[in-house]
Amino acid sequence: MTSPTARQAPGFQRFRIGGLLITALYDGYVPIRADDLRGAPAELVRGRLAAAHLPEDGDPRTAVLAFLVEGDGRRILVDAGSGTTLGPATGHLWESLAAADVPAHSVDHVLITHLHPDHAGGLVTPQGLAAFPAATVHVARADTDHWLDAGRTGRAQGVQAQIHRDAAAALAPYRESGRLDAFTGPDVLPGVRALDEHGHTAGHTGYLVGTGRDTVLFWGDTVHSHTVQLPYPDVSVAIDSDPARAVASRAEVLGLAAREGWWVAAAHLPFPGLGHLRGDGSGYAWLPASYAPLPDAG
Ligand SMILES: [Zn+2]
Repeated sequence: MTSPTARQAPGFQRFRIGGLLITALYDGYVPIRADDLRGAPAELVRGRLAAAHLPEDGDPRTAVLAFLVEGDGRRILVDAGSGTTLGPATGHLWESLAAADVPAHSVDHVLITHLHPDHAGGLVTPQGLAAFPAATVHVARADTDHWLDAGRTGRAQGVQAQIHRDAAAALAPYRESGRLDAFTGPDVLPGVRALDEHGHTAGHTGYLVGTGRDTVLFWGDTVHSHTVQLPYPDVSVAIDSDPARAVASRAEVLGLAAREGWWVAAAHLPFPGLGHLRGDGSGYAWLPASYAPLPDAG
């Protein structure tokens, strides 16, 4: 019998970084299988997972996270979770937002790192309506050009075909109401810069907010398996659109984040997915943020 007290804490955690209030939001989890990690010998990948006390065939509960950024009178969501695209282990972002007292209609902007379903599926309700009815959705034009292209959608097979369909459904109500911004270049919004990370998808994008040491990089899917890809950044994942370019992007982004000392907000690191990177041998180590009361706004 399950004890009535056996409930998890709500899936949100807040941090004040410079003038911004950042809320990490838990959407759920997906499996990242050892067989999907490419570019290193299988024994090395499995050994690394086992050494981290994970099943050696992969981490079955890799977190799916999104983030809310509040400051300058705006509420900006970075990624929107999975919605109903990936089943009941995901799609809990809306509950996490509600637990954090953030009504969906109060979100002004949604920045999408890329149009995979665990990042864009939650843009729409199960009925296909805009889940964030007052928000403008921003996504790199390279990603909309790829995933919404009718010819590519028609030729795609299997899981790729599903990604095309889910991406179109996620964006539909925002396109129809003129609230889709398919941007090019680094200037997305005042105080928000895009960082080109293409490779994982054609328009995979990181977002930079804040200044100096208080800069936060929302890096999307730069890392899927921190256990394997931080020590071995050359390892790609099966779902990468362009694996060689994804590896090159990862090298650039990891190097930049470590060198600049930026905060990193990561979609697939353990909740709350916020921390710093430091160089560690030929790879990197993760320094996670810890739970603490919020300081007063300065
Ligand atoms: Zn993802």
